[in-house]
Amino acid sequence: MLASDQYLHYAEEEHFCPHCHTRLSCCHTPPFHVGDGLGWGTEVFFICLNDECRLFVNGWKQCEEQYGHTASCRYALLPGEKEGITMMVGSKEAFTGSEVDSEAIKTKNARFQAEQEAMAKLETCVAEKNLAPILTLLLDESADREARNRAGDLLVELHDPACIDPLRNHAFRNTDLEQKVNMAIRAILKANFNKECPQCSEIVKAQAKVCKHCGAEF
Ligand SMILES: [Zn+2]
Ligand SMILES: [Zn+2]
Repeated sequence: MLASDQYLHYAEEEHFCPHCHTRLSCCHTPPFHVGDGLGWGTEVFFICLNDECRLFVNGWKQCEEQYGHTASCRYALLPGEKEGITMMVGSKEAFTGSEVDSEAIKTKNARFQAEQEAMAKLETCVAEKNLAPILTLLLDESADREARNRAGDLLVELHDPACIDPLRNHAFRNTDLEQKVNMAIRAILKANFNKECPQCSEIVKAQAKVCKHCGAEF
């Protein structure tokens, strides 16, 4: 497998079809090679997926005449090559849907980047009174489990009531972590002489007998 930034690098390369001047799509190579059986030697390649492309439009008739079966051709280019190849396709849909999704890769990279940064700052964030790394990890369900647990422990130490709203609005998939976070929130509220209204979840003074938000009586 290529690293995600290598995929991105390829996806951003610009190549054009000599038959129709459309920009070639960067696609994942299929699991098998129809031609020589030697494999592709590459994980991505570039192909013209324009259905109006002259090569593709005329290809049906040519393949019928030459090989006697229903197929057509698309222009393709292997990475690092200057000369393109003519690739036989059995249908209009062949290779569509296997385009390298650079937006998805970028999103994934950004998430990973944020996780790494948060993990690096985790041990200093209490001293620096910085809630951000803790929240980043706790709110990211894909983040490292150990790191999220540690972030949960640090909540009480950091003691910042600003954590309550975002954490309350997050659906935790891990019930242990959710419990830890709930306990931390209760501890933070208590230390600030506050409590949560059991009716509406808004924060009220610990001594309050009536919720100022929903009127519930305690
Ligand atoms: Zn073309
Ligand atoms: Zn209330």
